[in-house]
Amino acid sequence: MKPLQTIIFKFLKDTKLAVLDVFFPINCIGCGIEDVWICDMCIKKIKIRDQQFCPICEKIITPDGQVCFACKKISALTGMLVATSYQESIISKAVHLFKYRFVQELHVQLSEIVSKAIQSYELPLPDLIIPIPLHAKRLRWRGFNQSTLLANDLARKLLPDSQLELRDDILIRNRYTSPQMAIKDHHARNLNIKGAFTVTDKSIIKDKKILLIDDITTTGFTIFECASVLKAAGAKEIYAVVIARQEYKQKS
Ligand SMILES: [Zn+2]
Ligand SMILES: [Zn+2]
Repeated sequence: MKPLQTIIFKFLKDTKLAVLDVFFPINCIGCGIEDVWICDMCIKKIKIRDQQFCPICEKIITPDGQVCFACKKISALTGMLVATSYQESIISKAVHLFKYRFVQELHVQLSEIVSKAIQSYELPLPDLIIPIPLHAKRLRWRGFNQSTLLANDLARKLLPDSQLELRDDILIRNRYTSPQMAIKDHHARNLNIKGAFTVTDKSIIKDKKILLIDDITTTGFTIFECASVLKAAGAKEIYAVVIARQEYKQKS
């Protein structure tokens, strides 16, 4: 969709006008069949990654995406599970629609993929699920936090009958930052996110195993910064899970 179409689309979605389907018919982004964003057949074709790498150096294959021995010294993160590949065209299209074209209903299919990855790697269940927060200003603009939608689905899917706790009020983004995607320089991206997050209540996360949820990551800086803030505030272990990781060409 072009920018103008996107604005009209968001307006129509916000106002919930029935004409939406007439102007913007929905077709599966994989096969084109009508009335769904991604059909069940196309969802089934998406491959869960069969190998995971250390999220810091991205060079060493580790079990479940744990941080490798050498990188442990420089990171508060325990590991990061990457569900699938951004090279899958359905994934890149779906994430784009979800994140930048406000198609929030795609959280259902995207969380399905993440949940499948968590189950196939048998990732231990956390004490607490925390979505990567948006700044209040960006939340107002987008109308929803895409990571919170995913986190809600995951909390339900992973342990439907228990109270797997999801807290979106413990970690907050107190500083408005430029979108990481808009910054080309590797080091500038790292600086951009430093000091952007605060823990509101340390007693809730003390000695807890936390699962951080984000939609996609590129450099990983946002997740690394959240992990470091949570660890400094007393969390025992911080694991992250994302739908996919985009390649970052400028990485030195
Ligand atoms: Zn399809
Ligand atoms: Zn490493």
